[in-house]
Amino acid sequence: MRKSLTCTVCPLSCDVVLEIGENNEILSLTGNKCARGKVYATKEHTAPERTLTTTVKTKGGSLPLLPVRSDQPIPKPMLKKAMEATADLVVDAPVKMGDIVIENFLDLGVNLVASRDLDRAH
Ligand code: SF4
Repeated sequence: MRKSLTCTVCPLSCDVVLEIGENNEILSLTGNKCARGKVYATKEHTAPERTLTTTVKTKGGSLPLLPVRSDQPIPKPMLKKAMEATADLVVDAPVKMGDIVIENFLDLGVNLVASRDLDRAH
């Protein structure tokens, strides 16, 4: 099976092509212009990760929603569960950008942090 992906490590955005064997192993990897692309494509095939970005409700804040993100990427298969876990979350204002909203989010070893300041409502 052939699998194509775009390397997002640098702005060159190389098209990387992987030949995948019957046991999901990588038989060949081409199109990357540097070693970082090989690392990226290998990880993307074996254990893809994404940074979670979403918004959570606020209490007493100047805005109804606060943008938050995981401070490190999390396994891609966990994104849906992570989004669901933030649905009922309410954060008390005020908040500073970078403040930890939830420590060790879902036991994933990452923190959920505020992506902006949020003042109290006047
Ligand atoms: S393979 Fe290398 S040169 Fe190409 S986009 Fe990835 S990091 Fe950049």
